Amino acid sequence: MIELDGALGEGGGQILRTSLTLAAITGQPFRIRRIRANRSKPGLMRQHLVAVQAAGQICGAQVSGAAVGSQDLEFIPGRLQGGDYRFAIGTAGSCTLVLQTVLPALLMAGTPSTLRLAGGTHNPMAPPVQFLQRAWCPRVAEMGARIDVRLDRFGFYPAGGGEVTASVEPCPQLAPRSWLERGERRDCYAESFSAGVPGKVAERELECVGKAMNWGGEQLRVRGLPGDQGPGNALMLTFEYEHVTEVFTAFGEKSVSAENVARQAVNRARQYLASGAAVAEYLGDQLMLPLALAGGGGFTVDEVSMHARTNAQVIEMFLPVQFRFGARGGVDYCEVGPR
Ligand code: AMP
Repeated sequence: MIELDGALGEGGGQILRTSLTLAAITGQPFRIRRIRANRSKPGLMRQHLVAVQAAGQICGAQVSGAAVGSQDLEFIPGRLQGGDYRFAIGTAGSCTLVLQTVLPALLMAGTPSTLRLAGGTHNPMAPPVQFLQRAWCPRVAEMGARIDVRLDRFGFYPAGGGEVTASVEPCPQLAPRSWLERGERRDCYAESFSAGVPGKVAERELECVGKAMNWGGEQLRVRGLPGDQGPGNALMLTFEYEHVTEVFTAFGEKSVSAENVARQAVNRARQYLASGAAVAEYLGDQLMLPLALAGGGGFTVDEVSMHARTNAQVIEMFLPVQFRFGARGGVDYCEVGPR
């Protein structure tokens, strides 16, 4: 039984999600105490509970401690099985964090899978669906994984109500891969998605991005959505390069001006652009587990976060790999290889 402390490093939900994924894949049982110890509301929230249930379902696990608020959990996995699955996360929870938990595991199942999720598709502190589609899926496709993610209906925090469908083809052995450079820039653009929010908000956000990035009309795209998919607003900056695509998102909030939302997205993008790294912090986080499953690879990254270091420690408890963080040509670098 692998024993985990939920207060490790960053002390967030990733410790649990990574453990669930790797337990389902490797068949190793685990026990975790002090789940999300460093968060303001520790323990399992609804979206973590659904991640536990989803992981449990795909590998026929015996689970104890699976309840909202629970800080201790025991997970004894059975046999991983592909198939058709449906998971309802409820109002505020993120569909994509549940996908992040089960997609890598379903790659290792013997048969294809289809997943239908209902919940939030655009939540703060989680990858928006377009991030998975544009930034993550194409990179894991280069490792041999065929994962398709479709956004059927938007669901913004806190109302939720979104729908996502994902399909996964089995890929028992991912291929190692490294991303050291972005390559040439192919395209860059900003989109403001909004539902049930005054149209001026999207225009103001995009105007602000246009000025800050020196982008013109064609690159500034208003994406109006039906009012019943809101209320909500997400401003997304996409940068497509020869070797990677990055997506930076900021969310509109009642008390935050459109200009401030634009500034958040622009500042995050600028940090990445100035770094010269292949990927930014969040994509780096999300490539670590697939690379560890492949047994090797790495990436240059604009920031090595506590989240990434914690994730590395958890992965190393389940797989015979070792992560190393360093620098290459003045840029932060993360690599993984056999232990
Ligand atoms: P945690 O804070 O431990 O629950 O983990 C949050 C997860 O969401 C990590 O995998 C982050 O990489 C990811 N994430 C958070 N915000 C974003 C964002 N704006 N774009 C892409 N991924 C994100």
